[in-house]
Amino acid sequence: ESNLADLLPYSYAELLDRVSQKLKPKRFEHVQRVADTAEKLAQKYGADVTRARVAGIVHDYAKDLPDEAFKQVILSQQLDPALLGYNNGIWHGVVGTYFIQRDLQIYDPAILSAVGKHTIGAPKMSKLDQIIFIADFIEPGREFPGVDAARKAAETSLAAGVAFELAQTLNFLVSKKQKIYPKTIASYNAWVVHN
Ligand code: GDP
Ligand code: FE
Ligand code: FE
Ligand code: FE
Repeated sequence: ESNLADLLPYSYAELLDRVSQKLKPKRFEHVQRVADTAEKLAQKYGADVTRARVAGIVHDYAKDLPDEAFKQVILSQQLDPALLGYNNGIWHGVVGTYFIQRDLQIYDPAILSAVGKHTIGAPKMSKLDQIIFIADFIEPGREFPGVDAARKAAETSLAAGVAFELAQTLNFLVSKKQKIYPKTIASYNAWVVHN
């Protein structure tokens, strides 16, 4: 179990304060529910509870930033140029880790990995990666059709939860005729057969 002081150069109260100033109130409520859900999953599945909580609080830190801010970072940090063909839905996680390091001074690789993968997943995901990915989808405020099946899958195993969520996300995106980011497809292919 890690200590908060090893993850943050300030208090947990200050973390909440900094994040709440960056997010709309509804979004800040969501991230607090994700942190609660992630903490419970970490207890159930034997992952680092402190990292789960912090990752939950910061996972959507970049969600309300303007598109222009993401485009600048994609160019200046020489990230995958294909990212420019997508939108905030993809950027706030993959590129969001840049702002979390810059503004929140959080550099823990396990936390940054979980935030970077929370929307699109990855073929290989740590326990913490899987927990944040799932918690974001099943936190108690989520109401979409299929959320109960997603919660059941997450009770069975983390892998079942990840597989269920990727299938549901791809179905949703196809039904809306949205472009699929290739890494989302790679994640789906890696997890669809999970046992
Ligand atoms: P939130 O930030 O808590 O709302 O949840 P997520 O970070 O999981 O998802 C953000 C958005 O990205 C959702 O609207 C997803 O449907 C969308 N999304 C996820 N994968 C892809 C993808 O491959 N392509 C596109 N265009 N959107 C995606
Ligand atoms: Fe998100
Ligand atoms: Fe998600
Ligand atoms: Fe979220």
